[in-house]
Amino acid sequence: MCYDVVIIGAGPAGLTAGIYARSKMMKTLILDSGRVGGQLVSLYPEKGIHNYPGFETVQARKLSDKLYAQAETVGCDIKENEKVNEIENGDQELLVMTSKETYHAKSVVVAIGMGSFKPKKMGCPGEDELFGKGVTYLLPAKEELVGKKVTMFGGGNSAIDMALVADSVTDTTIVHRRPDFRADEGTVKQLERSGVKKIMSASLLSINGADKVESVTVSQDGKEMVIPTDLAVINIGISADLEDLKRWNLELTEDGLVKVGPDMSTNRPGIFACGDAVSYPGKFKQITTACGEATTAILMAYKFVKKPYWA
Ligand SMILES: Cc1cc2nc3c(=O)[nH]c(=O)nc-3n(C[C@H](O)[C@H](O)[C@H](O)COP(=O)(O)OP(=O)(O)OC[C@H]3O[C@@H](n4cnc5c(N)ncnc54)[C@H](O)[C@@H]3O)c2cc1C
Repeated sequence: MCYDVVIIGAGPAGLTAGIYARSKMMKTLILDSGRVGGQLVSLYPEKGIHNYPGFETVQARKLSDKLYAQAETVGCDIKENEKVNEIENGDQELLVMTSKETYHAKSVVVAIGMGSFKPKKMGCPGEDELFGKGVTYLLPAKEELVGKKVTMFGGGNSAIDMALVADSVTDTTIVHRRPDFRADEGTVKQLERSGVKKIMSASLLSINGADKVESVTVSQDGKEMVIPTDLAVINIGISADLEDLKRWNLELTEDGLVKVGPDMSTNRPGIFACGDAVSYPGKFKQITTACGEATTAILMAYKFVKKPYWA
C-alpha cells in the first residue's frame, strides 16, 4: 500500500497538514516519535494559549486534543511512538523507515518541530538526584499542586505563564537570574498583579532534600537564602536535537533547520516541510505560522502527487 502523503511529526504543523490532506482526499499517515501534540503536550500542557484564533484562551493540551480529534475524525492514520529514521528514494516513491516498519509514500511532509527536544537543565546539585521527587521540567496538573510550595526557575513567557497557573492554586515563587524578565509586557504585568513572589538577579545553588525536595538554596547579592519548596519547576528553555534532518539529506540553513522555498518545498522532490523545523527570512516559531506553512506544504504535496490539470 502506498500513502499519498506521510507526515512526520504530530505537533500542530503535522496535525494541520493531516487535516488539510484529508480535505483533498489524500491517503494520509501521520507518524510521531512520541505522543501526539508536540510541544503543546510535551512542554507546556497546562499553559494557556492566548493567540490561537477562535479561542480567547485555550489550555495547550486541550488545543492539542482538538487537533488530534479532528485529524482522526477526518480519517488520518496516526501512529505514536514511531520515530522515523530514514527517508529513502524508492523506484517510484519515497520510503519512510521507522524502527517498526517501512512505509511507501508518494510525498512526505517533514513537521518534526524541534526534533527530539529536551528541557535545558540548571546543572546544580540535587537536580538529577531529586528528579521526579519534586524536581520537574513540566508543570503538573493544577490538582497536583494544591497545598504544595512551588518555586519556578526562569524568566520567559513560559515560566511566567506557568507560575501564574500555579499561583491560582498554591503558594508560588519565581526565581530569575536577571534583573528583568524576558517576556511579553502583558505577561509581566499579569505577574505584577498576581500573588507570585519574585526573586530577581538570583542564581540557584542547590536543590535540597533527602527522599524528596524540601527546599532550594539561591544566591542573591552575595547572600544565600533557603526557600522552602515542594516542587522545583525548571523552565529555562529547551535544546533541540535535529540530527534526523542531516541524515535525510535535506538542505539545511546555518541554524540547522530545513531550508524551504515560499511553497515549503525542500531540495528533495516530493518532500515538503513546515513548522518549527523550517527556516526562511521572516520565520517566526508560533502555532499559527506552523499551521499556515502546513497548509501550503500539503497543497503543494497534493499538486505533486495528483497533478491536477488546473494547478
Ligand atoms: C514553552 C513554550 C511556550 C509556547 N507558547 C506558545 C504560544 O502561546 N503560542 C504560540 O503560537 N506558540 C507557542 N510556542 C511555540 C509553539 O509551541 C511551536 O511553534 C509549535 O509547537 C510548533 O509546532 P510543530 O508542529 O512545528 O512542532 P512540535 O510541536 O515540536 O511537534 C513536532 C513533533 O514531531 C515529533 N518528531 C520529532 N522527530 C521525529 C521523528 N524523527 N519521527 C517522528 N516524529 C518526530 C515530535 O515528537 C513532536 O511531537 C511555545 C513554545 C514553547 C517552547
